[in-house]
Amino acid sequence: MKTHKQIKDWGLGLSGPLIIAGPCSAESPEQIEKICIEMKEENVIPSMFRAGIWKPRTRPGSFEGIGEEGLKWMEIVRHHLNIPITVEVGNAAHAEIALRNKVDVVWVGARTTVNPFAVQEIADALKGTDIPVMVKNPMNPDLDLWMGALERFHAVGLTKLAAIHRGFSDAYDKRFRNKPNWSMPMHLKRVWTGMEVINDPSHIVGKRDGILEISQKAMNFGLDGLMIETHHDPDNAWSDAKQQVTPKRLKEILAAIDFKKPLESEQPNERLNDLRRAVDHLDDQLLDILQERFAVIDQIGAHKREHHLSVFQSDRWKDVMESRTQKGVQKNLSEKFMKELLYSIHEESVKRQEKQLRESEAVKK
Ligand code: PEP
Ligand code: MN
Repeated sequence: MKTHKQIKDWGLGLSGPLIIAGPCSAESPEQIEKICIEMKEENVIPSMFRAGIWKPRTRPGSFEGIGEEGLKWMEIVRHHLNIPITVEVGNAAHAEIALRNKVDVVWVGARTTVNPFAVQEIADALKGTDIPVMVKNPMNPDLDLWMGALERFHAVGLTKLAAIHRGFSDAYDKRFRNKPNWSMPMHLKRVWTGMEVINDPSHIVGKRDGILEISQKAMNFGLDGLMIETHHDPDNAWSDAKQQVTPKRLKEILAAIDFKKPLESEQPNERLNDLRRAVDHLDDQLLDILQERFAVIDQIGAHKREHHLSVFQSDRWKDVMESRTQKGVQKNLSEKFMKELLYSIHEESVKRQEKQLRESEAVKK
């Protein structure tokens, strides 16, 4: 088992649930000061202040971050709020500059987590320090890649670690900027005992509305904190203008969330309800996947029709049965269950393709 230090043991006086707030990007000393003053006036002091200094932008030409100069402005945060500061690092040079400027915690962004070379480079640059590192999930839903990045930091002796769930890029589902996958952070917490996962509703939702709902969901799933982009004038922010909230709104969101810890809940029914909610969500995912699978099956049907291939192809079927059953057994599912499941899916696939064929022949006649 990998041992790491949980957030409360980072030596920064932090306790859960961790609330990280601050702008997507540091823009000017005035902007940083205004945000801090509004946080103070609204009495909504986060556990940690975030600010993007180097911004990984999808397309060139947008604001790519203020760079090292912005780190000097973090003194303003210390002066007004006296809370730890966290920034994103995307390469070894960023990591060195962050260390030189006494940043308290660094995080690795989703676009960096996908690249093991970049992650290793950052880990090597931070080696020998004990700076806490938070790792956002990669852009694609790959738990191994996410775990792998955490392992690279752990392997160089950095033990103050946490993960951040910011959702996954999805070309089809336009409800989210980055689609959440609640089973993945829950799985990470199971396989890496004690690993805390902060939720980032801002990058999941991509707009101001819905941040409360996703934050509440994250708490219901037992995640350990929230990272919410906060700006005094969100509409005029230099990056992610649509999703940032004012300190006033942040306060309302935090006041509305029920922060009970589901898995440590004292009432057994509460725990059962939370677990059932998790099952409901997983079933939704299962149905989405089945829907997607049958859509592909329909495309295969059309292709077979066009090329006068038979609907049932025994070699392919044998291969699917064997390989999936084997994979299922490795995942602790019984062979009998796997076979029944696959027969039932296959039967439905054949029926759909035969129905398609009958319909197209009826049209021809
Ligand atoms: C950010 O936190 O501003 C950011 C760029 O996030 P992500 O890496 O999740 O896209
Ligand atoms: Mn952002």
